Amino acid sequence: MVLTDEQVRQIKDHLLKQLPNFPEDKREQIRQQVESMDAEQVETFIKQNQLTHLGEQCIFCSIVAGINPSYSIGGNNENIAILEINPLSKGHSLIVPKEHLDKIKSSTQELAEEVAKKLREKLNPKRIELKEIKIMEHALIEIIPLYGGERKRKPANEDELKALQEEITKPLEIKIEPKNAEPVGEEELFKLPPRIPD
Ligand SMILES: [Zn+2]
Repeated sequence: MVLTDEQVRQIKDHLLKQLPNFPEDKREQIRQQVESMDAEQVETFIKQNQLTHLGEQCIFCSIVAGINPSYSIGGNNENIAILEINPLSKGHSLIVPKEHLDKIKSSTQELAEEVAKKLREKLNPKRIELKEIKIMEHALIEIIPLYGGERKRKPANEDELKALQEEITKPLEIKIEPKNAEPVGEEELFKLPPRIPD
């Protein structure tokens, strides 16, 4: 990531706005420090403080750190899987890398496939869409089960999210199904990305 002059300026301006929060006798010193940072130092600073290019705190880093609440439905060493609180459909989820990076890693992809499989088994959507997105410069994967007729996102309340979290994470009941029970022709609707070879 290389910051443009404009981004460096924006971040510095954002930091300078925080000056009144510091004791008066420290302000001038901090102001000079901020002004003297070059692009590389600004970049290091925003990484260490998990800030975006606009100098805002990243919401996903706050979730990973446990500062903001979330509804976990799984995870692996490098990622967490959480329910979207403003879902388009039932089971709309996010796979969030613990690290604030602008690209996703293979472990994120792996967890996304695992969670998509779970959602498919538990919620039985018509299809599931996986999308790589970036919010506040934090790359993540969005998983959207589609049942047909989805139009717009709606905020979910705490009870709904808790119930759904339980439904998705409880162990599957063992069912004996006849062979050929899978509907034919559904498969091509799935936009699952290619599997990473083991
Ligand atoms: Zn982040």
